[in-house]
Amino acid sequence: MDSASTHAYDDVRRPAPRAPRALATEAVHAGRDDLARQGLHAPPIDLSTTYPSYDSRGEAERIDAFATTGAEPDGPPVYGRLGNPTVARFETALARLEGTESAVAFASGMAALTAVLLVRAAQGLRHVVAVRPLYGCSDHLLTAGLLGTEVTWTDPAGITDALRPDTGLVLVESPANPTLAEVDLRAVAHACGSVPLLVDNTFATPVLQRPAAAGARLVLHSATKYLGGHGDVLAGVVACDEEFAGRLRQVRFATGGVLHPLAGYLLLRGLSTLPVRVRAASATAADLAGRLAADPRVARVHYPRIGGAMVAFEVHGDPHEVIAGVRLITPAVSLGSVDTLIQHPASISHRIVDADDRRGAGVSDRLLRMSVGLEDVEDLWADLDAALGAAAQVGGRTRSTASSGV
Ligand SMILES: *Cc1c(COP(=O)(O)O)cnc(C)c1O
Repeated sequence: MDSASTHAYDDVRRPAPRAPRALATEAVHAGRDDLARQGLHAPPIDLSTTYPSYDSRGEAERIDAFATTGAEPDGPPVYGRLGNPTVARFETALARLEGTESAVAFASGMAALTAVLLVRAAQGLRHVVAVRPLYGCSDHLLTAGLLGTEVTWTDPAGITDALRPDTGLVLVESPANPTLAEVDLRAVAHACGSVPLLVDNTFATPVLQRPAAAGARLVLHSATKYLGGHGDVLAGVVACDEEFAGRLRQVRFATGGVLHPLAGYLLLRGLSTLPVRVRAASATAADLAGRLAADPRVARVHYPRIGGAMVAFEVHGDPHEVIAGVRLITPAVSLGSVDTLIQHPASISHRIVDADDRRGAGVSDRLLRMSVGLEDVEDLWADLDAALGAAAQVGGRTRSTASSGV
């Protein structure tokens, strides 16, 4: 291998720069530190599925080393399922933003959570302690025991008592999907003792909250949401220490939930505007939360103390009519895009959760969840105002059916 290609592969994974840099700086430079010296500005996309090697003795050693620790092989990957240089740039950047040693990317947020559960199950630790609400599919994955895990649901104060010798993981979301309920991450991390705490940081992003600094061993993102930020990439990532990252890479290699290099490229590009997008959308969301709280057609507004671009609210009228009434805002699941989306959790994102469990977790049948984008606040309010008006009229006529549940 010539020195140019050694340079190209190894520098992607280069450790932290000379001095600590602010989040806004990391967002545009992390994962790109080698580019200028390579004579490049935009990161290259490596679409290779396989990599040539004339030294099969050397390959055997590299494969043995990966089987032992899960550390990324020095030099080019052996095969695309083992690693990819473009995806590695995104992983490097996200680890830097979350303040962890490493990060491991997956094909979706659910693939990322699956890999974490499989790492622990393979160590004989099949019991999970979790706090509701969680994203609907995360709740379902645990409740259904699809991966052979067993879950105990508790509130943050009950975590220590719920721990067992075979507990492999404690799982929380904060702010949680869809109610935006918050937990005290430091207190929860303390309650976990030596059991790894996984914080799903999808809603807050590292711009508003860095769970690793509060004691979380694992920080999970549905990168489909704010990290990608434009509604065109499905991805997941776990930021953690290098030891756990090695286990995650081994599971990813064995089960195949890899991220496509094009998605890795788009995510790295998305990260560069993450702080600007999150701050701008959060300012608009806080403004809309205030207007909704003052509106007589709205029964309750949920907006987190740490802020953010998500707003949830319960209406007096029929929530389905609000969804039917929006014109600028798009009625759709998912979140974290540049445009504003609204959806009815009891019908869609949290439909898969048993109705009693859902309501017990504070997800009312009248709750709407809105992901605020980058549009002008007055245009958004005009659209919401009209949709709320339509819902109040219909709701007035059909109050008895609306209140009988969804
Ligand atoms: C969307 C979401 C997930 C699942 O991520 P996918 O990328 O859709 O697989 C997990 N957690 C939270 C909080 C989410 O919003």
